[in-house]
Amino acid sequence: MELSYILNELAEDRDEYFRAVSPPIIQTSNFAFKTVDDLRRSFEDEYATWLYSRGLNPTVEILRRKLAALDAAEDCLVFNSGAAAIFAAVLANVKSGDHIVSVKEPYTWARKMFDEILPRFQVAVTYIDGTDIANFEKAIQPNTAVIYLESPNSWMFDLQDLRAVAALAKAKNIVTICDNSFCTPLFQKPYEMGIDLTLQSATKYISGHSDVIAGVLSGSSKQITRIFNSEYNNIGSGIQPFNAWLLIRGLRTLPARLERITRTTQAVIEFLKTHPLVERVIFPLDSSFPQYELAGRQMKGACGLLTFILKTESCEAIENFCNSLKHILMAVSWGGHESLIIPKCAGMPRDQFNPGLALHRSLRLYVGLEEPDYIISDLSQALDVIKHHS
Ligand SMILES: *Cc1c(COP(=O)(O)O)cnc(C)c1O
Repeated sequence: MELSYILNELAEDRDEYFRAVSPPIIQTSNFAFKTVDDLRRSFEDEYATWLYSRGLNPTVEILRRKLAALDAAEDCLVFNSGAAAIFAAVLANVKSGDHIVSVKEPYTWARKMFDEILPRFQVAVTYIDGTDIANFEKAIQPNTAVIYLESPNSWMFDLQDLRAVAALAKAKNIVTICDNSFCTPLFQKPYEMGIDLTLQSATKYISGHSDVIAGVLSGSSKQITRIFNSEYNNIGSGIQPFNAWLLIRGLRTLPARLERITRTTQAVIEFLKTHPLVERVIFPLDSSFPQYELAGRQMKGACGLLTFILKTESCEAIENFCNSLKHILMAVSWGGHESLIIPKCAGMPRDQFNPGLALHRSLRLYVGLEEPDYIISDLSQALDVIKHHS
C-alpha cells in the first residue's frame, strides 16, 4: 500500500460525514441499536460492531486501520499510552510459571513490569545483552514464552538482529514483542521481519506535537483480536476519540517531519563530532556506530534522537552546559516539534557521578523541527560557557 494513500485516504469514508476532509470526532460512549437481534449480534462479537467506546469507536477505527497498514501488520490496537500497549502485549502472552527473555535496558515501565508486577504472578525475566544472538540462545529456557526487544534501545541505541531473533523464536514457539518507538513504522517494520507484535509510543513521532499520550500495538489478526477481547477491554486503556483525532492529524505530516528532522540531525551530528568538548556521538546510522552495518540492513532511517558524551571531569560542567541552553528544553519524551535534552547525571545523586564512565557523561538530545542553525548555535553557546569555566 502506498504511504500517501495510507495517510490521506485509507479508512476515510467521507460519504459518512458530509464529505468533510477532516474526519469527525465521534465523542460518544455508546451506540444505539434498532433491533434486539442487532444487539444480540453485537454481544456475540463486539469486535465486528459499534457497541461501546471502551472497545471500538469510529474515529479510533480510522486511526487503527492507518497504523496497522503503516506497520504492514494485519491489525492493531491503539492505547492511551505506550506503557499500556507494552503491558497488554506482555500480559496477553504469559501465564504463571512462564519465563521472559528481555533486552537488558528496556523502557523504564517495561522493566518495572518485569521486576515488580510479573514476579507476583510467578513470571520470571532474564535480561541479556541483545547485540549478540548467541545470548538469546543461551537465555531461552523450556518455559520461555516471550522475547522482549527494543531496537534501537533508547539511550545507547543497542540493536537486536530482528530477523535472526524472530527466526530463533519461531522455531521454539516463543512470542516476540518489539518496541519500535525509536524508528516509527516509516523507518523500521519489525512485523515484516517476522516479529509477532510490534509496538510504539505514539506520544513521540506519531503525535509529533507533544500534546498526546498514546501507544500502538500491531500484529496478526489472531493476536490482536484475542487481545481486544481480553486485556484491551479489561484494562480499559483504549485511546479516547479526541486523542485519536489528534493522532490522525499528526500522521498527515509524519513523513515531512521525519524528513526534516533527519536532515537537521545530520547537521547537528556534524557540529558535535567536530567540537573539542565532545568525545563521541552515538547514533545508529553514523558510520562510527558499532552496529552500523546491522542498522543499515534493518532500518531505513533513524530520525532525531542521539546521545553525545562530553569531555569533562565534572558533573557541574554538564549541569552548567544544560542550564545554559536558551532554546533547547530540558524535558523527558521526544518526537515533538521542540528540541529536548536530558543529561544522564540527572538520574543519579551528584556524589555517584563517575567521570570514568562515558555513560555518566552522556546526554540524550532530541532534534526537533527548529531551524538547524537555531539548534546548533544554542548548543555552541552553551558549550562555550563550560569551555571558559574549565
Ligand atoms: C516513551 C516510550 C514508551 C512509553 O510510551 P508512553 O506513551 O509514554 O506510555 C515506551 N517505549 C519507549 C522506547 C519510549 O520512548
